[in-house]
Order: sequence, then C-alpha cells, then structure tokens
Amino acid sequence: MKLICANFKMNLLKNDIINYLNTINEKIPKENVVFFPNELYISYFKDKNYLVGSQNIAHLEHGSLTGETSVLELKEFGISYTIIGHSERREFFNDNKYISKKVELALKNNIKIVLCVGETFEEYNKNQTFEVIKKELNEALSNNINYLNNTNLIIAYEPIWAIGTSKIPTNECIENTISFIKDYLKTEFNLDIKVLYGGSVNNQNIATLEMIKNIDGYLVGGASLDANNFLTLIDNIKN
Ligand code: PEP
Repeated sequence: MKLICANFKMNLLKNDIINYLNTINEKIPKENVVFFPNELYISYFKDKNYLVGSQNIAHLEHGSLTGETSVLELKEFGISYTIIGHSERREFFNDNKYISKKVELALKNNIKIVLCVGETFEEYNKNQTFEVIKKELNEALSNNINYLNNTNLIIAYEPIWAIGTSKIPTNECIENTISFIKDYLKTEFNLDIKVLYGGSVNNQNIATLEMIKNIDGYLVGGASLDANNFLTLIDNIKN
C-alpha cells in the first residue's frame, strides 16, 4: 500500500483545520495517509484517529532549547511519524548539524522517520544527485545503524528545485534515483526501505508519476492544503 504524507508546513489556521477535517469527513484512509500539520493542530487529527506526524523534532529530549519541541512532548500528543531533514529545515534552521541526533531520538522513541534527501538545481545540472544523496544518507544513518530496521525509516526523495515550483524531474530520473537509494541502503546498511517522491506532486502530474514502478508513495506539500484537492489526489493514487 502506498504511503501518502501531507506536509502542511506553516499553513492553515485553526478554523481552516476544523473545516479541513469536516470536508475530508472520514473519506481519507487511516492506514496509509499521514498528516503533518503545524504541531499546534496535531491533536485535532489524532482525535479523529488519523495517522499524524510532526514536521520536526528537537535534537534533545528535554532541556534549554527555547522554541523547540521534544519528541517526548510530541509523542504525548500521539505522533507516530516525524519528518527529519526537510530542505527548508536544512536551509533555514541549520538542521544538517543535528540530523543524526534527531534520527537517533526518533528511533529510540519508536517514531517512524520520513527522512528527506535531495539535490539543488545546480547539483542536478552537474550530475551530482547520487553523490549528494549518499552523503545525506551517511550523515543521518551511520551512527544509528543499530536501531534501524526496514519499517522505522522511510526515505523521501525530494529534489530541492522541485519543491513548490511545479517543476519535476522526468519519470526516468525519479525511477533511477529511487533505485539508487534502495540499492545503496541495501548494500551499505542491509535495509529494504520504502522510498517516496516529493516535490510539486499535484492532480495534474499524478497520473504520470503513477507510471513509475518503484515508487512507494508521495510526500505532498501544496496539493494537500485544500481538502477537496487532496481527496482527488488520493483517489488518483493506486495502491
Ligand atoms: C515539501 O515541501 O515536502 C513538498 C513536497 O512541497 P510541494 O508538494 O509543495 O512541492
């Protein structure tokens, strides 16, 4: 069954969330769709028994980290997933430095990780995609190998230049990169891991993306923000 992750980022206010939940009105599957709302609204989704995750966790379990939220606190509100390494966090919050520690804390607390990896447009043009991803995987996983298994880690291949831009790589390119990630995780870490694609997935391109054979699901940003739009997207994804 394909895994579909809806990353709301810092969008939708309280009333929008209430309306969203009324619109989806139990029409969204509860076993393979995970919502990542702003953490203030996690409980709204959890109360309706949807799968829910956080967009981030702090790199410490507790302590003096003003403005951050610990995996322990998020767990109390019912998250079962967390995104780690989103390019926006890497760019604006210096997350490259903390990814290994965040991965460790999520794994120790039985929270599934959606680890984002992907290249900039410049790196893509220089054919450095595999090199960049290899480095990101090593940085996140090398110190955590003892805790990893085939189900507690999911990779989201997100070319940075495709996020929020309506541009996406060709199917061939996505398929090759997903194969590379799966092969690398198998040979280096002995893991069989699900790999999602993320970056401008929408109702216009989903039929094309669905032709990719090795894709295990999607990480969706903008196209998940409108409930009706997201319901249509889910209907267009074959399991
Ligand atoms: C994202 O930010 O993870 C994402 C996939 O965004 P969008 O779908 O809007 O490109």
